[in-house]
Amino acid sequence: MPLSKRNKVLVVGMDGLRFDRLRALGAPVLDGLMSSGAYGTSKLPYGEAGTPRTESPGEIVPKSPESGGRVIASRTDSGPGWSSIATGVWPDKHGVVDNAFTNPNFTKFPDFLTRAKNVRPELTTAAFFSWTSLDEHGAFSRAIDHRFVVDGYGMGLWAEADLQVAEAAERHLADADADAVFVYLGDTDEVAHDLGPHCPEYFAALQTQDAYLGRLLDAVRGRSTYPGERWTVLVTTDHGHVDEGGHGGTSDEERTVFVIANRLGEDLGGRSLSGPRLVDVGPTALGVLGIAADPAWELDGTDLFINC
Ligand SMILES: [Zn+2]
Repeated sequence: MPLSKRNKVLVVGMDGLRFDRLRALGAPVLDGLMSSGAYGTSKLPYGEAGTPRTESPGEIVPKSPESGGRVIASRTDSGPGWSSIATGVWPDKHGVVDNAFTNPNFTKFPDFLTRAKNVRPELTTAAFFSWTSLDEHGAFSRAIDHRFVVDGYGMGLWAEADLQVAEAAERHLADADADAVFVYLGDTDEVAHDLGPHCPEYFAALQTQDAYLGRLLDAVRGRSTYPGERWTVLVTTDHGHVDEGGHGGTSDEERTVFVIANRLGEDLGGRSLSGPRLVDVGPTALGVLGIAADPAWELDGTDLFINC
C-alpha cells in the first residue's frame, strides 16, 4: 500500500442491532464487510438489573470482567452506548449513565471527531444523526465541521429520519473533502422497542439500513479521489434488546455489542477481533487518521488495528 494514500474513516452506528439477529437474518452489505474484514463481539460492562422496559438513573451495578475491575453504574441505554462510542471512555468517565444526559463530561472527554480536529485541524470531520440528544448534550460536539441533525422523535417515524440522514451522508461522502465521518441509523432500535427483535419488521429495518450502508460505500468508492484514498469502515451498535423488546438491563441479549472493521479494497479475511468494545471505536478511528492516543486523554479503548 503506497504511503501516499490518504487514510480516511467512516463510522456507521446502527442503534439496538443484536448481533445474533444480524447473523441469523443476514444482511448482504454487512455480511460482505464481515467476510472481507474483521469483527467480533463483547459485552457492555454495565447494565441495571431487571428493568429493560423502564427508565431510571441506573443505580444497580454489576461488577463485570469487561469493566476492568471498575464499577460502572449505567443502564444499557442509547445515551451511555453512543457516548462510549464517541469518546472512547466508559460511562463512569463521560458521565452519561442513561438517556437523561444529566451530568455529561464531554469537555474532558470529547468525541473522536473533535479530538481528530484538535490534533489535525486540516482534517474535515462530519456527523450525521437523527437523535437530537447527541447534539444537545454534546456527545458529538459543535466543533465538528459538518453536522446534519434531524429529530427522529419529532418526525414520529424513525425510518424517515434514517432516510434523510443516509441521503445527506451519501452526498457528503460522494462530493466533499471528507476525512472522518460518523453516521447514525436508528430504526432497528425503534422497531425492536415496539415489536421485539424477532419480528419481520426488524428484519425489514435491518435490510433498509443495510441498503443505506451500501449506498454510503458506493458513494465512497465513486469519489473522484478514491484511487488516492484508503478508507476504513467501522460498524457498531450501542446495546442489544431483550427478546420481547427493550433494554437497560444486564442480560446477555442487552449487553452484547459488536464491532465490524473493514478496509475497502483490502482483504482482512473475515478474521475475529478479540472482544472489540465500544470504547475501542474512537481510538481505532483516530489511529486510522494517524493520531495516537495521548495518555493524558485517559481513554479506555485501544486501536483495534494495532494487532490486526
Ligand atoms: Zn440505543
